[in-house]
Amino acid sequence: AHLDHIDAVEPDVHAFLHVARDAALATAARVDARRAAGEKLGPLAGVPIAIKDVLATLDMPSTAGSKILEGWIPPYDATVVKRIRDADLIPLGKTNMDEFAMGSSTEHSAYGPTHNPWDLDRIPGGSGGGSAAAVAAFEAPLALGSDTGGSIRQPAAVTGSVGVKPTYGGVSRYGAIALASSLDQVGPVTRTVLDAALLHDVIGGHDPLDSTSLTDAWPSMTAAAQAGLKDGALKGVRVGVIKELNGAGFQAGVKQRFEETLALLSAAGAIVSEVSAPNFEYAVSAYYLILPAEASSNLARFDSVRFGIRVNPEDGPLTSERVMAATRDAGFGDEVKRRIILGTYALSAGYYDAYYGSAQKVRTLIQRDFAAAFDQVDLLVSPTAPTTAFKFGEKMDDPMAMYLNDITTIPANLAGIPGMSLPMGLAPEDGLPVGLQVMAPARADARLYTFGAAVE
Ligand code: GLN
Repeated sequence: AHLDHIDAVEPDVHAFLHVARDAALATAARVDARRAAGEKLGPLAGVPIAIKDVLATLDMPSTAGSKILEGWIPPYDATVVKRIRDADLIPLGKTNMDEFAMGSSTEHSAYGPTHNPWDLDRIPGGSGGGSAAAVAAFEAPLALGSDTGGSIRQPAAVTGSVGVKPTYGGVSRYGAIALASSLDQVGPVTRTVLDAALLHDVIGGHDPLDSTSLTDAWPSMTAAAQAGLKDGALKGVRVGVIKELNGAGFQAGVKQRFEETLALLSAAGAIVSEVSAPNFEYAVSAYYLILPAEASSNLARFDSVRFGIRVNPEDGPLTSERVMAATRDAGFGDEVKRRIILGTYALSAGYYDAYYGSAQKVRTLIQRDFAAAFDQVDLLVSPTAPTTAFKFGEKMDDPMAMYLNDITTIPANLAGIPGMSLPMGLAPEDGLPVGLQVMAPARADARLYTFGAAVE
């Protein structure tokens, strides 16, 4: 049914870069046969799932939305992909994204944008717009995303979906094509909080193949979400409203839904108060130094030899340097080149202290803001994005406007803490979904699921 629905809506939505029809049907038949034979299967066995194209998959191309990896089929599965296969989920295919996860709209995909199922003239968010649109358009009940500065949470918000960025190190990054290694996290995109919890339990937990993977024994996120469905789950929960993430520049309908949500929280017994995070105003600036620095280094591996396409220069000798330059020139899009230049500049001798070094200090200040806030409250809330889904082209000529869209989501990545976006209704002025962002201290992901399920 999902494959047929994909066929019906993909011409409009374009959420997928690759649909694995035959493999999905074969997997489904195998799971059915085992179930019929009386085998006891896990809770998500037989459930279809869409996979962001940033994740390595053995049997499907993995392009990260870039021409430079066109047609590349990895020799291994990402750990999260292996885990969903081991739990008998059914991979449907690979979803569209901004090239190398750089963007907030999927307009930077080398394969054309994804359209928001709520309004096809609008962006589905980014970079993981394909995963969020697939879930919102009922092409898949579950999807995997990756979040470096908001790429799970913001697409979830603007498509009326649920998205979770786990604690840094909580979910393996092995086989996730790296954007900024100190910020990247893989996580679920779903229609309900309980679905996200079920998927989190499948993909989460220690992985010896990821050197930054935490060795914690994690509680069941599913049990945490179920606890939130009980009466009184919000009673006495201390909720902090971040003053700096709800002010000027936020759309009226977004603010209105947020205020109403806060009133509902108080009515349900939560203790709502305002907290201040004075260094958040520098978060976007610090992020756009740290991210390009790490990305410029990570993307050095696309050298025309080890992965993907190779392009020879039109004339002159075929030296390795000239082949590499011609390949990278043809293979990378404008946004990727912009960030490689920014990052290389920020890391150059003599500039390190002024740019990268300063940004790392700001990162520490933001971590301290969070620590101070979490001394007073259990959870922090804000709108997930300042606006609802914007129209195609609106921010394409102005990278700064595109970057500022991430002001709400970036702080959690800089601090490594978990964040969730869940729907809080539609903005009255345009009828488009608005997302509530919830953040918890590092390792307290379960708290998000209890709260999210209660609010939902
Ligand atoms: N929009 C942000 C960026 O362009 C976030 C990207 C992400 O989370 N992958 O960097």
